[in-house]
Amino acid sequence: MPTPRPEPVHVHELLREHWGLEGALQRLPGENENYLVEGRDGDRAVLKIADASLTPEQLEFEQRMVEALHAAGLGLELPRVLPARHGGAVRLETGEVSRPARLLAFVPGLPWGETAAATPALLQRLGRLLARIAEALQALDHPAARRSHRWDLAAADQHRSRAGLVEGRDRRRHVEQAFQLFVACVRPELPALPRGPIHGDTNDENLLVDGELLCGLVDFGDALEAPLVCELAIALAYVLQHGSDPLVEGAVVVGAYHGHRALTPAELRVLFPLVVARLAVTLTVCAERRREDAEHPTWFATEERAERLLAELLAHEPAAVGSAWAAETGLEPFPQEGANVQELLDRRRARIGPSLSISYRDPLKMVRGQGQFLHDDRGRPFLDLVNNVCHVGHCHPRVVDALQGQVARLNTNTRYLHDGLVDYADRLCATLPGGLDVCFVLNSGSEANELALRLARTHTGRQDVVVVDGAYHGHTGGLVAISPYKFMGPGGSGRPEPWVHVVPIADGYRGVHKGHGPAAGRAYGDEVGAVIQAAGAPIAGMICESLLSCGGQVIPPEGYLARAYEHVRAAGGLCIADEVQVGFGRVGSHFWAFETQGVVPDIVVMGKPIGNGHPLAAVVTTREIAESFANGMEFFATYGGNPVSCAVGLAVLDVIEEEGLQDHALELGAHFKAGLEELATRHALIGEVRGLGLFLGLELVRDRGTLEPADREADELVQRMRARGVLLSTDGPLHNVLKVKPPMVLERGDVDMVLRALDDELAALG
Ligand code: PMP
Repeated sequence: MPTPRPEPVHVHELLREHWGLEGALQRLPGENENYLVEGRDGDRAVLKIADASLTPEQLEFEQRMVEALHAAGLGLELPRVLPARHGGAVRLETGEVSRPARLLAFVPGLPWGETAAATPALLQRLGRLLARIAEALQALDHPAARRSHRWDLAAADQHRSRAGLVEGRDRRRHVEQAFQLFVACVRPELPALPRGPIHGDTNDENLLVDGELLCGLVDFGDALEAPLVCELAIALAYVLQHGSDPLVEGAVVVGAYHGHRALTPAELRVLFPLVVARLAVTLTVCAERRREDAEHPTWFATEERAERLLAELLAHEPAAVGSAWAAETGLEPFPQEGANVQELLDRRRARIGPSLSISYRDPLKMVRGQGQFLHDDRGRPFLDLVNNVCHVGHCHPRVVDALQGQVARLNTNTRYLHDGLVDYADRLCATLPGGLDVCFVLNSGSEANELALRLARTHTGRQDVVVVDGAYHGHTGGLVAISPYKFMGPGGSGRPEPWVHVVPIADGYRGVHKGHGPAAGRAYGDEVGAVIQAAGAPIAGMICESLLSCGGQVIPPEGYLARAYEHVRAAGGLCIADEVQVGFGRVGSHFWAFETQGVVPDIVVMGKPIGNGHPLAAVVTTREIAESFANGMEFFATYGGNPVSCAVGLAVLDVIEEEGLQDHALELGAHFKAGLEELATRHALIGEVRGLGLFLGLELVRDRGTLEPADREADELVQRMRARGVLLSTDGPLHNVLKVKPPMVLERGDVDMVLRALDDELAALG
């Protein structure tokens, strides 16, 4: 409930009683209850009636700040407090509410927003003034400074969840983009940015101008301790609304600021994201307030200008603006690394095998990864929804430290004793059901699957293998032969080797048996039995992903693997679970995806996420199978299980545990899936939403009856989401499934943004 506005008669009474003032009252524009008081003798003052919640400590902090600036001799008029007749604090009592009241000296001058376009001299003065303010306040230490509020720019993301209220698709897209820039580029830098007390609202109403001079600063109500660069960002977010070229004018302000208080490269890097975040906050707060009172006389004053500036700034790449604004500082916050995209593409085409494709029509050059984000060479952050390799987040500092520490100490092979190998094997086995207790540590999923096949063949003395249609298990000759995704795909032979037996994908949505329950599970399991029967040779085993990733993010129906494994074992074969994509806590409910099917494989293959990007893979099997494999032929991989890899592997396991990432995947995955299901109720293009934890798939169809695959639409959606800073890709034999398998440190704010963005883009696709 907003506090009722005080009756003028009470305000007059208050002025008379405490300051002996009689005169005309004029309510000032703005959010606060401020009045211009014009005494009979022409003297002017400002009466501020604060919110009831404002504490005496906060009032004192504001006053101390004004005094500190006054003492610094900045040539500014400031709102000094005019003492009350009886001394002490004054409060206005209205009904139940008691509100602090202060009379402040009137500060003459024209608000910046009402002056003609700012001259370079004025912009320079502004830059210098902001730097001098930072300097003048540096020694001020007050407990009330340690607070946050809705306009606290260092906490801009508190508004992100309401970005969906912003009307207009383009405006909303800009606001989302700005919040993502904040989350990806500012938040990680916050702890190391120089801090101090700031005014916190150096906007175009509070900065007062007299000709080419800055003559006053008012309204210290948002003062707080914050990163100093926020003050500069806030001023720019308003001042640039009144200029003609934000890149040029920003450079003048920043250059002048730097001339007096040197900005750090990190401050220069966060400046652009902070400016756009401030504009996004303005637009979000306006959208929110419009629901409260769309006719409010002052709330929306800056909205149109803020939108225009935001759109104009976001039309440039962040690194370009960051560099332009730093032009006068002599610093380069975004140094160009290596070749530009086109040069690199040309060189790559000349030197790298052409069978390797590049993501996106307009390729990206990534220069940095952090958490759930990849950053390109233009300073743009992209939310990574498809990288299941950097499982605990790109460049997780814990993993990086483990790697750097070990590589500087010792890196050798497994023919020497080393604690790391055995410690790592212990830790891996502890995550698996009993019986799976012998490890082989390798370098890639392909190597691990090759070894799994050799284990099965050596143990059984057989050659033939059952594989699932649409599956991919690796890039070696032997694995391409068991990967229908490859041998049936472009450039493939189009038919399996005689020793390869293909069973259908257990897809309850599109496959031959419909449904996700036990009946479909049993029917698909029996397909395995039928194929084994028809194989014409005894099988060494079946290799199957526990959830089918390349097959289209398919979750097999209940009981499928149990039934399939029954048939395999009855035929004397071994069951190999390829957990390269789906293991390591991603499904949330369990550490391993095969556990969701209630089975225990004979051989488990793991890769990708276990090294968080470092080449690391493993095979875990039973002692019995491992013993059969030890038939005299040595097994040795030069790099497999080296001390550096094991240190990395141990650090990844530590992070999963310490950060509770498996539980996080369960909770956030459920939220994500529920959001996608809600979208499916409004967008007919979504045929099915499926997934477990943070392994999700969105199958797009043109017709929910015929299931005609919407492959072009899926591709278009991927491109559109990329334009919004979200990396997604398609999968499945029909290329119509959007796959979601992000780093597990994805956050709820990211998910909600993706849902809003998908909603907009699906609507645009029609
Ligand atoms: N198995 C599965 C299920 C995979 O997805 C992959 C890689 N995409 C592999 C094995 C092969 O792993 P790598 O590329 O590390 O050799």
